[in-house]
Amino acid sequence: MLTNDELAKWDRESFFHPSTALGQFARGEAPQRIIKGGEGVFITDRDGNRLLDGFAGLYCVNVGYGRTEIADAIAKQAHELAYYHAYAGHGSEANITLAKMVMDRAPEGMARVYFGLGGSDANETNIKLIWYYNNILGRPAKKKIISRWRGYHGSGLMTGSLTGLELFHKKFDLPLAQVIHTEAPYHFRRPELTMSEADFVAHCVERLEALIAAEGADTIAAFIGEPVLGTGGIVPPPAGYWPAIQKVLDRHDILLIADEVVTGFGRLGSMFGSDHYGLKPDLITCAKGLTSAYAPLSATIVGNRMWEVLARGTDENGVLGHGWTYSAHPIGAAAGIANLKLIDKLGLVQNAGETGAYLNAAMRAAVGDHPNVGEVRGEGMLCAVELVADREGRQFFEPAQGIGAKVVAAMLRRGVIARAMPQGDVLGFAPPLCLTREEADQIVEVTSEAIAEVL
Ligand code: PLP
Repeated sequence: MLTNDELAKWDRESFFHPSTALGQFARGEAPQRIIKGGEGVFITDRDGNRLLDGFAGLYCVNVGYGRTEIADAIAKQAHELAYYHAYAGHGSEANITLAKMVMDRAPEGMARVYFGLGGSDANETNIKLIWYYNNILGRPAKKKIISRWRGYHGSGLMTGSLTGLELFHKKFDLPLAQVIHTEAPYHFRRPELTMSEADFVAHCVERLEALIAAEGADTIAAFIGEPVLGTGGIVPPPAGYWPAIQKVLDRHDILLIADEVVTGFGRLGSMFGSDHYGLKPDLITCAKGLTSAYAPLSATIVGNRMWEVLARGTDENGVLGHGWTYSAHPIGAAAGIANLKLIDKLGLVQNAGETGAYLNAAMRAAVGDHPNVGEVRGEGMLCAVELVADREGRQFFEPAQGIGAKVVAAMLRRGVIARAMPQGDVLGFAPPLCLTREEADQIVEVTSEAIAEVL
């Protein structure tokens, strides 16, 4: 077996890591951690540390680590049929069964599910389907996509453009011209402190209306949004936000994509965020929670009004020219089936709601009054603590101070993983949905100690 030092050297010399400071990593100046195993909500690394994963990997290991039911299902599928493509009407028992299971759980009004590999390619699929749809309807100019600042929708050319975070645009020549951004529903960062939630929702609607008026509704195809903003800061929408936005979109015949890569399959305590907030999307993007990341798989769930046009389009134009070699991969599908069964068997959607509410309440009670905590917010098994320099005047820290990252590092030294969200000093929590109250207490206690140490 390789020693830890050998492995670390190979890592620095060979491996191009995503979202990493490349030069610093290669020189051994950036954090490096080699993970060995996982069980429940804990992972272990090669240095012998056991860490409570308060972010479920990248909010994806929803059923927790080490689930033999899923590992066995993957192995069985690999033995029986590791792969066959899904082009031209080919299927396997695994991917057909998973399609049925997803549609049985999908919100009302959805027609079919298309499988890809990850959230980014699922959103690429969405945009292509939307452009195709408007071309079939004879509206070739209706193509722009509205996204929100602070939204996260992936890292590709189109999806990186939809993402509303500077880090994902800077030096990449993004966003592409077809993407336009509007206000994030982030009440804590409202433009004027005096704005109530209701005023702020009215402000978001006004900004959206103004954007549509400026661009022309006949040039705008769709609006994409996460039911709860995730990577942009874990921000549940202010009350009334989604119904107000949906009304505007309906009036201008603009499709809605609910990006449920994080919220799909239970994280909010409802099967889908669309159910949770009463959204009526035309497309739903899923990935992470679909397989709990035991194998890569994404899903684009297509609503009735689009499905009818897409089917008509292929009647008129031939086969839909869109597919990946690994679309509906049987091993991913086997993982998905075992994962969804486990979510049902263990009651994890309900636990996400109940233990998530407990985590949020305990966090608020423990750190909510700290002078450098601006806000504790969350929904279901999502929680965020936003750190500020001055609570009363809502003054933020200078980004160069890296306060959020310092608190996260102090937590790691105490055995709990949180995520310093990429913009602002926001500590993010998205534990596996199987979290217990005792584990929630451990997260809260360590957060409180780390904040006290750094601030
Ligand atoms: N959409 C949302 C809401 C996400 O949070 C993510 C990833 O974090 C993506 C899309 C992209 O998914 P992937 O990283 O699997 O491409």
